Amino acid sequence: QPGHKWNFGAGPAMIPRPVLERAQSEFLNYQSTGLSLMELSHRSQPYEDLNNKAQAQLRQLLKVPENYKIVFMQGGGHTQFAAVVYNLVAWRHHQNGAKGDWREIPVDYVVTGSWSAKAAEEAKRLGANTRVVCDAKKSLGAYTGIPAESTWATSDPQGALRQADTASNQKPAYLYYCDNETVNGVEFPFVPSLHDPSVPLVCDMSSNILSRPVDISKFGVIYAGAQKNIGPAGVSVVIIREDLLQTSELKDGLPAVALMMDYKTMVKNNSLYNTPPMFAIYISSLVFDWLLDADAQRVQDGNAALYPHSSFVGVEAAQARNERKAAKLYKALEESRFYRIVVQDKAARSKMNIPFRISAVPKGSDAVADKKKDEEMEAAFVAQAEAKGLLQLAGHRSVGGIRASIYNAMTEEGVDVLIAYLKEFESQY
Ligand code: PMP
Repeated sequence: QPGHKWNFGAGPAMIPRPVLERAQSEFLNYQSTGLSLMELSHRSQPYEDLNNKAQAQLRQLLKVPENYKIVFMQGGGHTQFAAVVYNLVAWRHHQNGAKGDWREIPVDYVVTGSWSAKAAEEAKRLGANTRVVCDAKKSLGAYTGIPAESTWATSDPQGALRQADTASNQKPAYLYYCDNETVNGVEFPFVPSLHDPSVPLVCDMSSNILSRPVDISKFGVIYAGAQKNIGPAGVSVVIIREDLLQTSELKDGLPAVALMMDYKTMVKNNSLYNTPPMFAIYISSLVFDWLLDADAQRVQDGNAALYPHSSFVGVEAAQARNERKAAKLYKALEESRFYRIVVQDKAARSKMNIPFRISAVPKGSDAVADKKKDEEMEAAFVAQAEAKGLLQLAGHRSVGGIRASIYNAMTEEGVDVLIAYLKEFESQY
């Protein structure tokens, strides 16, 4: 329809229209309190109920086992880069009998894109014994895939190190990776499984949480900033295995965990240690409602009866739709002689963020590309898209190019409109 806007932004990203409409209708009078939710005390019953409901919804959507806690924290993904280090080094230190220098405890990072690289840098900056056990840029030349797990320098299931140059006879505090690299468009098609199982897996799922089912029991900590596939910026969801909350008190040079980053403090206070980002949690809860509502999901699917009501599961419905959307977009890009998909490793292509470039030199030709001219065409692509209501298609400022982000909220129709535009733009050249 003329005037309709399609938001392909990577984050803050599109929020489902029915969620925004419901928020608008409840804005001035939250649940007959006569106040907006933002004006209520975070200690009030309506807010406490909302806090508990949002956690229960997320537990239901992701089938979070009983021995995992769910908390809402502030400070976005970047705060979690640090929180993970403090909390889990303190846990490992406790496991070690609170003996030894915490700086010797290794923390292992799989780096497959700019966010995991940044997380590893933060660990190093905080003084942790940071080991990059896989560096995709080094082994592939760029962040265009995921090196085979058997090549990582992690400890094997017997606890022996695979590569001598990472020597340390201590068990690492954790093995960290980012499930979906938002900037680079690289997504894990598997959960790492070849490492020492007593080393907890820590995963940044900021840009693909709730896009597909996950076996939570394989993880120690999962976190996600809300502003991509959940709701507004301001809240992060953290899912933590209960036993990892056993940490040492300040001893032997171990830095104290700032209370606002302390998982134990958050769990103990049910995410109400201080004033939480209530509005962000409220909108997130409306998104969870929307995902759990079979009728709403059917509308999202263009009213196609794709699953019987009795067998409806929100995340599976989203996954099926996300796979259809990504498959058709990659296919359109692949069939074109004009567009270039950035991620070479097909199995590792993200279903959420799809970066691509333009090249005037047709695929297969040995003519030399004119980089400047290609970049001008990319800028024209983004500008003309904006004029047609296809918004926020520019690639991340660190890499340039074009990026289409197609999270849960993006309909299949939106992807069809983008594909039609791809063809139209290409035909001009
Ligand atoms: N991790 C991932 C995968 C991200 O996409 C982002 C943000 N784009 C971050 C971490 C950082 O999040 P924040 O801006 O909330 O600190």
